[in-house]
Order: sequence, then structure tokens, then C-alpha cells
Amino acid sequence: LILMQNVDKHFGSFQALKNINLSVTKGERIVVCGPSGSGKSTMIRCINRLEKHDGGTIIIDGIELTDDLKDLNAVRREVGMVFQSFNLFPHMTILNNLMLAQKLVRKTPKAEAREVAMHYLERVKIPEQADKYPIQLSGGQQQRVAIARALCMKPEVILFDEPTSALDPEMINEVLEVMVDLARDGMTMICVTHEMGFARSVADRVIFMDAGEIVEEAEPETFFSTPKSDRTKLFLSQIL
Ligand code: ATP
Ligand code: MG
Repeated sequence: LILMQNVDKHFGSFQALKNINLSVTKGERIVVCGPSGSGKSTMIRCINRLEKHDGGTIIIDGIELTDDLKDLNAVRREVGMVFQSFNLFPHMTILNNLMLAQKLVRKTPKAEAREVAMHYLERVKIPEQADKYPIQLSGGQQQRVAIARALCMKPEVILFDEPTSALDPEMINEVLEVMVDLARDGMTMICVTHEMGFARSVADRVIFMDAGEIVEEAEPETFFSTPKSDRTKLFLSQIL
């Protein structure tokens, strides 16, 4: 579903990604961790073309991400994204937030978009919030709306960039529960997160990045019990 081969990314003279190789098959759940500035966000932002890579190849469900890519919408339909900071439109109700992308990217008729939006609001357990504005919701509720918004696009894969790190501790679990639920349902997911409990319970693979490189990649059990690289060991000793 996702193939990254020898991917590089520079910001000016700074190299943020160095020779990234990653392949993700349908239904796989990947957790990405690593120190601040290691390139985790940059890597997943390259997957949905929020950033352009400048070396190597990225192919998403048969679509190669190149400069002459005509249909960026095709990529955005395949790849959902949930950000740390929710990124809901403040001046629109929850329901309208959920209907907007469907209208823009999928050209879904209004009645159907409303139905789809309500379906996924129920899925994240807050249908009663449909007519409120983002500011009237708690952080955990807003993040669940953001997940519902991604689901409304019926993506093949959802990328999560530290979805719980802006939340108060008591709201983290309600968001993780929704993510675990999605994982159980077979959704392909790439999650940048330091929630190692989540990694242990749902990840098929954990990827550790440092200084723009993938340093280590293993099943969670192996990753946590017998990390190979000293950089991984140091990182784990700091967060566990
Ligand atoms: P964090 O855990 O803090 O979110 P990260 O692993 O997600 O970190 P990235 O955001 O991918 O790290 O950033 C990787 C490196 O690229 C950092 O050194 C960052 O300063 C740099 N960088 C990221 N975005 C840009 C940009 N738009 N312009 C210039 N440099 C950038
Ligand atoms: Mg980041």
C-alpha cells in the first residue's frame, strides 16, 4: 500500500530524511517513535504530500508521488491524517467540519455527506456534539472529531502525528480507545506516538527514528525487550 525507497528530504542545506526505506501493507499498524527533530513528522507528511521529498521514490497504492502528479486529491482520498493540534475549522460546526472535506475532495452530495458524518461521529461516540463548534468541545472530543473527519474520506490508511500529545492526561485514553478500535477493525495506520502501551497492544511493527534515519524496526515485543541499537536503548530509557 505504501512504499518508500531511498527517500531523502532537505530543508535548505539541512537533511531531514536520510535514505528512508519503508513498506506498509494493507491492514498493518506501524508505530513511529524517536527523539524530537528526528524526522517523524516529516516522514509521514511526505506520505500524504504535505511535504515533497527530494530523493528516492514514494508510491501510494500505485500512485507515484512526483512533481507532475496531477491528482493530489487522489492521494488525499487514500491517505487520512490526524494532527496533534486537531486542525478543525473554528468557525464551522462539527457537522460542517466533517462535511467539508467530503464535498471538496470527494464531491459527495450534501445529504450523503451528512449521513456519513453522523455515522463516524457515532463511531467516535460523540454524535450529540454535531451542532456545536470546536471551541465548545474538550480536547479529547475535538481529537475524536478529527479522527471522524479522516474516516469520512474512507481512506486506505490514516497517519497520526502525536494525536494525544496536546491532550490533558485524562483525555488521552478516550482518543487511544478510538485508535485501538480502528486498529481492531483492520484500518492501516501509521502512528507517530510515544504512547508505548498503545504500541505494545496494537502495533505490528515499531520504527525508531533518529537524526532523519530509521535506526531500528522490530515487532513491539522485540523492540522493547531487546533493542539492538544504543540510540534506541537510550531513547527507551528516557521515555519508559
Ligand atoms: P517532534 O517530535 O518534535 O515533533 P519530529 O521527529 O516530528 O520532531 P520533524 O518535525 O520531522 O521532527 O523535523 C525534523 C527536522 O526537520 C527538524 O530538525 C526540524 O527543525 C526540521 N524541519 C521540519 N520542518 C521544517 C521546515 N518546514 N523548514 C525547515 N526545517 C524543518
Ligand atoms: Mg513531529
